Amino acid sequence: MSRASGEGPRRVAILGATGSIGQQALDVIDRYPDRFEVFGLVSGRRPASRPAPYVIQAGDPDCDERVLELVTHPDCDVVLVAIPSARVLAPTLAALRAGKVLALATKEVLVMAGHLVMPAATRPDAVRPVDSEHSAIWQCLWGESPASVSRLLVTATGGPFWSRPDLDLREVTPNQALKHPKWSMGPKITIDSATLMNKGLEVIEAHHLFGVALERIEVVVHPQALIHSMVEFVDGSTKAQLGNPDMRLPIALALAYPERLPDAVPPTRFHEVGTLELHPLDQVRFPGVRLCREAAARGAPYPAVLNAANEEAVAGFLAGQLRFTDIVALVESALGACAGEGGGSLEGILAADTLAREHVRARIGKVRT
Ligand code: MG
Repeated sequence: MSRASGEGPRRVAILGATGSIGQQALDVIDRYPDRFEVFGLVSGRRPASRPAPYVIQAGDPDCDERVLELVTHPDCDVVLVAIPSARVLAPTLAALRAGKVLALATKEVLVMAGHLVMPAATRPDAVRPVDSEHSAIWQCLWGESPASVSRLLVTATGGPFWSRPDLDLREVTPNQALKHPKWSMGPKITIDSATLMNKGLEVIEAHHLFGVALERIEVVVHPQALIHSMVEFVDGSTKAQLGNPDMRLPIALALAYPERLPDAVPPTRFHEVGTLELHPLDQVRFPGVRLCREAAARGAPYPAVLNAANEEAVAGFLAGQLRFTDIVALVESALGACAGEGGGSLEGILAADTLAREHVRARIGKVRT
């Protein structure tokens, strides 16, 4: 028996239950028990530490089949995707095709396969961003017509090195790169913030989510991380969404839309903020955004190559096998080596992902001189 939709609390499946986003989502869910219920928990290396109708850990027997069963279950309303891995592509597509709402924290899903994911949605607002910049743009777009939008302005803190032109980026260490000035996140995304690859991936993510051309999406450096992004309209007006950095807000919005949850996060005290700075991006020192734009303009499977090569190169840097500047250089090398075979099919994308990883691994160890 499945219950009638719209009745009772929304039942949420969390893919990535023990990660930072998953834990903050559980915090939001627990604070609003009349609105949300945990329906399923999927975790990686660490097991989820609470009961739910579905509790699945990577490596369990029939793990992939059970995740598919969970995300397409008639009683499941919302699927929060927060596992940064190509393995979530299949369950993400299955959930959308089954008519579920997707709260999407895994930007890799849209970077690799946005052209497959967005058309799989069976209802408007089925794909809801759980990325602070995209949640900001989403909020700025509420009530606006697509024809009124002129540009999307994605803000970037600039990471730990943007304000340090004195540093030679070839010599910076993993420890220096892991010190993000504003957000506390996992190591992979923190390194991506330091190279600004994260912002390039977010440009691709915004392009798919909002259907805006790449050349109308701009990156603006904003070190205070209070303006989470902006939308410029054809009449010259610009809307921005602001607040203290706190991922529980994008999570609460994605779960509760179209409602705003009372006291989801503490309000921002703007008189204590001081100055808000906005600067253009230095594309010479940080070429990652340009590379992401080029890969997205070439179309699938190039963004998948970029994403996979970047993951491998970041792992190599964190392991002390590469210089910081080798990360973007190796991504460019992998893009150059890809002939684009396989195109944009799911199989083609996954094959390109594998080839790009092999390409980078083969070069790790050879590049450090
Ligand atoms: Mg972000």
